[in-house]
Amino acid sequence: MARVFQSNWIGKGALTSEFEAAFARHLAVDRPLVRSVNCCTEGLFQAMPLLGIGPGDEVVLPSISFVGAGHAVVAAGATPVFCDVDPRTLNATAETISEKVTPRTKAALILHYGGVPCDVDAITEVLTTGRVALIEDSACSVASTYKARSCGTLGDIGIWSFDAVKLLSTGDGGMIYCRDAGMAERVERLLYLGLTTPAGFTSDARERWWEFDVIAPGRRATTNDIASAIGLEQLKKLPVFVQSRKDIHAFYDDALKGLEWLRTPPAPSVGSESSYYMYWVQTPAAVRDRLARCLKEHGIYTTFRYLPLHRLPVYGTHDRLPHAEQAAETTLCLPIHQRLSREDRERVVDAIHQFGKRL
Ligand SMILES: *Cc1c(COP(=O)(O)O)cnc(C)c1O
Repeated sequence: MARVFQSNWIGKGALTSEFEAAFARHLAVDRPLVRSVNCCTEGLFQAMPLLGIGPGDEVVLPSISFVGAGHAVVAAGATPVFCDVDPRTLNATAETISEKVTPRTKAALILHYGGVPCDVDAITEVLTTGRVALIEDSACSVASTYKARSCGTLGDIGIWSFDAVKLLSTGDGGMIYCRDAGMAERVERLLYLGLTTPAGFTSDARERWWEFDVIAPGRRATTNDIASAIGLEQLKKLPVFVQSRKDIHAFYDDALKGLEWLRTPPAPSVGSESSYYMYWVQTPAAVRDRLARCLKEHGIYTTFRYLPLHRLPVYGTHDRLPHAEQAAETTLCLPIHQRLSREDRERVVDAIHQFGKRL
């Protein structure tokens, strides 16, 4: 951070480039395929035109998705088509996606719920048949791997979030991976007003250094060297963060097993690693809200992510997606973060056991 201030340049510069390179190494992909962005939502919005998605096209996404994922499809003039999820992992599957693929489908936009990877090979097989692109919202899965490859690098475009509640946080921020370097270069330009050449102080023109070329009406969604300096340090600590969350998972799993009215989350399948971003339990529908209220009375905040989009008035569909709807009625996300103390974990578990006794 001292370097940023001593350099007299706090905008996007050398530190951001270093952070991009370090993140590419973390993902084990080529450096030019990775570009920074001011948030994951912006990356989702950029992904659509980047893949040529527009009016008349359809994008399949799980109903249990971040709300901005739906907005990104609509903003491109395309139609979001919501698919169902696996009732335990809350992830989209090859089956639930293929039910919704039509000749108009241009992309599937998946997320790895809570950090547990989807079965991407099976999904890719469905998509390849229909020449459908794969976009990964990798906001939950910054350290997740599928068959030894990083989540977010398994399809055409992947996007990460570094917002305030994520595992790796820069306050706000994100990264975009593109399968080919040309696309990555294009998105970098679109994120800075569509400028193709650096203008002003950084231009190497001998005269009229203030002039510039523009390839498209881009936006202004770059990050800066203050955020990137934080990101570089956070990235070094990422393995410790993941381990801490993995320990919390193991603690909750152990302390909650044997409650016949409650199910702990599924483990990642063989060959996958989770980021342990969320810890969710599932109870009968009649119990879930009561449990949430009881924990709140004990000063323990719980929540449910992500509200099924097909039920939101803004998307107003009459589709029935039974597993997504069931998950939304039965799933509760318990407190988890890398500094959650032993006492706090025990408080959560004790409150759940107390509640269970009164059922
Ligand atoms: C947090 C989150 C986002 C949004 O990220 P921002 O950087 O805040 O735009 C997108 N998708 C998922 C799954 C998230 O959890």
